[in-house]
Amino acid sequence: MKRREVIKGLGLLPLSGAMMGNLLTAEKAWSAPKSKKVKRDLFDELGVTRVINAGVTMTFLSGSLMMPEVMEAINSTSHDFANMYELQDKVGAKMAEMLQVEAAMVTSGAACALLLGTAACITGKDAEKIKIIPNWPGARPEVIMQKSHRYLFDQAITTCGAKIIEIEGPDEMEKAFNNNTVMALFFNAAGNSSVSREDFVALCKKHNIPSFIDAAADVPPVENLFKYQKMGFDMVTFSGGKMIRGPQSAGLLFGRKDLIEAAKLNHSPHEAPIGRPMKVNKEEIFGMYAALKSYLERDHKKEWNDWLSRIERIRKKAEQVKSVKGETNVNPGPANAFPSLYLTWDQEVVKMTANDVQSALQKGTPSIVANVGNKDGNKVLNVGVVLLRPDQVEVVANRVKEILQQAI
Ligand SMILES: *Cc1c(COP(=O)(O)O)cnc(C)c1O
Repeated sequence: MKRREVIKGLGLLPLSGAMMGNLLTAEKAWSAPKSKKVKRDLFDELGVTRVINAGVTMTFLSGSLMMPEVMEAINSTSHDFANMYELQDKVGAKMAEMLQVEAAMVTSGAACALLLGTAACITGKDAEKIKIIPNWPGARPEVIMQKSHRYLFDQAITTCGAKIIEIEGPDEMEKAFNNNTVMALFFNAAGNSSVSREDFVALCKKHNIPSFIDAAADVPPVENLFKYQKMGFDMVTFSGGKMIRGPQSAGLLFGRKDLIEAAKLNHSPHEAPIGRPMKVNKEEIFGMYAALKSYLERDHKKEWNDWLSRIERIRKKAEQVKSVKGETNVNPGPANAFPSLYLTWDQEVVKMTANDVQSALQKGTPSIVANVGNKDGNKVLNVGVVLLRPDQVEVVANRVKEILQQAI
């Protein structure tokens, strides 16, 4: 494919300027579509509302905005066929090298990784088991989890026909291992843990049972992409569509080679195994690779400082309204560990609650989604900045000021 033809093929896409690979700076990575270049506006054509995300990455708000490098990877690879086995293997090998781990693969998201990792622990490479999962004739396979770690996404485990065995504390965990145990899952962002990560890994190793950690939303910091395999977890997952800014329908599963190979056997392009309904396409696999590479190469300190300066801009504008006070809040993580702006005001002066302002922002034009946070037991308006395009910082600042001002 000649460069000229690629350019022609990209003409309809709003990010085409940025896609040509010469603009990798943080500011330009977020550049707004140049409206005069857009020939067809699918939001308008279909009457779909554009949303400004002044919150965090949320699946219902389409995750993140993919980096231009990711869109470039998607577009530039869309003109040729590839053997999907080869693609998954080669991208996996490269990502494993980047993550300093034995093996890696691209899944259709972290939830898919949870399912495939569990399936891998149950079936190994046994073709018969891969064929019948989750319809086990005998005792159900067991997965150990801490009681306080139970969460929405653990249905990916029971989908494999496994049973979750809840434990509290290292002693109960020790006693839970038996012949049916296939895996133990650690929810990294759980509020509290009765077994530490270190003890969890040690107990799993002692009983020769694979340990899996779900760290889906747990970058930044970038170091977390290396931390858990170093700690000894056998499998790790991260979402593609959160702060890594890859396709939201992609994710990473990485760790022990035998397990990742077994996970692949339970996935597309193999026909009919449990993971087949969670297919990942060629472009997303290339896109996920490009996203990971870009994330690892990013200047994270510069990005963090940029977020702080965005907060300052919005805070200064909002504080022009009588009684309004802003402060930087840094979420301690592990999930969503980045700064945002907390805004409070005297409700005798500005006669609105934080929920009222949130609702007005969302219903307004443009529609802005912010959150309501909690500070010392009081509700505060929580304005997120990490997902704003540079041109949207001013838009959000102006709308927040306008709404508060009108309530005086
Ligand atoms: C977002 C999230 C998931 C699901 O990830 P997807 O990539 O959307 O499938 C799973 N676990 C945790 C802790 C998450 O935050």
